[in-house]
Amino acid sequence: MSEYDTVSAEVEHEDEIPEDHPRYQDLLTRHRIEKGVEKGITHLQGMHAEGRGSAFDYLLGEETIPSADAAERVAAAHLLLADHPVLSINGNVAALVPGEMVDLAEAVDADLEVNLFNRTPERMQAIADHLREHGATNVKGLEADARIPNLDHQRAKVDEAGIYAADVVLVPLEDGDRAEALEEMGKTELVIDLNPLSRSPQVAEVPIVDNIIRAVPNMTDHALELADADESELRKIVASFDREAALEAAEERIRRGL
Ligand code: ATP
Ligand code: MG
Repeated sequence: MSEYDTVSAEVEHEDEIPEDHPRYQDLLTRHRIEKGVEKGITHLQGMHAEGRGSAFDYLLGEETIPSADAAERVAAAHLLLADHPVLSINGNVAALVPGEMVDLAEAVDADLEVNLFNRTPERMQAIADHLREHGATNVKGLEADARIPNLDHQRAKVDEAGIYAADVVLVPLEDGDRAEALEEMGKTELVIDLNPLSRSPQVAEVPIVDNIIRAVPNMTDHALELADADESELRKIVASFDREAALEAAEERIRRGL
């Protein structure tokens, strides 16, 4: 038995996960989702979503592949160009990268909006509080005074001054129906999802096939680096992106290790 065998079950705090463990990022991700469920932030279903993502990340080698890094830079440029960018937060996102989403929102001057597949007032509140504990000052999603067309009632709820009015939305780990409905509203959709075949990245203007725990801090780094770029340079970055090529590169890597 290796020294690592009991790691995931025993860990009370994420600092106890050895950083040199060959599956460190997976253990960390799993641990954060478990804590999210315990805290009432993440629905139990979120664990299944996590499990699906974990399999793809294993095949990607738990690293940001070059096409994903390029997509993260393009996504940062879109957010900087936007009139009204919004970052959508669900239970998994809140458990995995709360402080990192706050940092990204600050870097690109975006709103944060809580939006849940399994929406209850308690979870909405718990997530908003959790984001505030991580430095968020203005959390949207609780008003729910507008609806996304062509979507069932609970999942359609958004803030009129938030996602409803947004021109660019970052929707990480989003379910396919909602991603499609947002796309039909004409929004520029940036999707983070480890499965390039899932419907959400398939409909995204910018599909980012990467683990959210790597993708979000990297987007913030790109945004900070591009902060002084003029509009024409940002437009050039956005125009150079080939979404089909990005999806293909990710699928090649996953299927064939290339
Ligand atoms: P659909 O066809 O509706 O898209 P789905 O199988 O993709 O269904 P969902 O629960 O809607 O299931 O979406 C979860 C998605 O989130 C999966 O595609 C999974 O790969 C992805 N995912 C899970 N964890 C992460 C993570 N840490 N980083 C990035 N993506 C993740
Ligand atoms: Mg999906």
